[in-house]
Amino acid sequence: MAGEIEQLKILAREKKFLEDSDFYNDDTKLVEFICYDCDFFKPDEEILECFAFKIVKNLLRKGIVSPQEVLDALSQ
Ligand code: SF4
Repeated sequence: MAGEIEQLKILAREKKFLEDSDFYNDDTKLVEFICYDCDFFKPDEEILECFAFKIVKNLLRKGIVSPQEVLDALSQ
């Protein structure tokens, strides 16, 4: 049951991003998209962008990958 609830929360978050067509140009939303599932994420601390964050940010902002492609890669 807890696993199903967690899965529903993840799906709801994914849906929110997929409906917000340029969320990745907003730094706060981008942190939520990339960092919230990261083991190193600490909500009350300033985000120092790791290399993976910078790569995903630049791929999204340059239109090289879509949010859906990022989510697909994370779910594999
Ligand atoms: S910046 Fe990188 S290491 Fe830090 S929380 Fe985000 S994904 Fe994790």
